[in-house]
Amino acid sequence: MSDLQFHQFPCLSDNYGVLVHNPDSGETFSVDAPDADAVLAACGDTGWKLTHILVTHHHDDHVQGIAKVKAETGAMVIGPANPQIADIDRTVAEGDTIDLVGEAVQVIATPGHTLDMLNYYLPKAGAVFAGDTLFAMGCGRVFEGTPAMMWDSLKKLMALPPETKVYCGHEYTLANAKFSMTVDGTNPDLVKRLAEVEALRAAGQPTLPTTIGLELKTNPFLRAADPAIRANLGMDNDGDAEVFTEIRERKNRG
Ligand code: ZN
Ligand code: FE
Repeated sequence: MSDLQFHQFPCLSDNYGVLVHNPDSGETFSVDAPDADAVLAACGDTGWKLTHILVTHHHDDHVQGIAKVKAETGAMVIGPANPQIADIDRTVAEGDTIDLVGEAVQVIATPGHTLDMLNYYLPKAGAVFAGDTLFAMGCGRVFEGTPAMMWDSLKKLMALPPETKVYCGHEYTLANAKFSMTVDGTNPDLVKRLAEVEALRAAGQPTLPTTIGLELKTNPFLRAADPAIRANLGMDNDGDAEVFTEIRERKNRG
């Protein structure tokens, strides 16, 4: 069997769209539809016929293109059971698997940014679509859930194999790296990554996908247990969820 093909493309101001294609079955899915015209153009560029849309969460910059893309392609829309999202054909939830593109795609609920957030894990290809839950050196703002809920959600992603590729909803990497330096500035992996990310962005290149392993080394939101970060925050004796919450609040203020 051929490998799955991935096509990531920028859209709107800082969103990413992604298409995943199985050349044997001809199936292609889009993760969200931030911008209908951009998704349809990506299908045209690749020559892939869209068959499915996997929805992460209800925010406009992820769902506003669904109606037009569905109307033009007939794609089946799979996503969370949230009446705020129109055009869903099949609802899924934590622990479900979806037979798609030759994978048993695992549905991982990661509430926090929104309560309906779903991430999609492809175990054979080793890739996860993290929506607005996990970003490179960052995580989503906690709009609907609680910080403790978000921390539990991030722990689910941290438990995936380190080589897992992480596709994120936004290119926020450079700003996240600069913030990360304020809480973990003596981490050599982070210092090195900041320089790499600055070079990529200066060249107009994407910094994503990332990997779980790289995030575990450089993303302060996943590093609440790290002694240096705890010392920097004066939180040596607090719980991981409290340390995560403090980092999230500092980023909100930043
Ligand atoms: Zn969002
Ligand atoms: Fe978003």
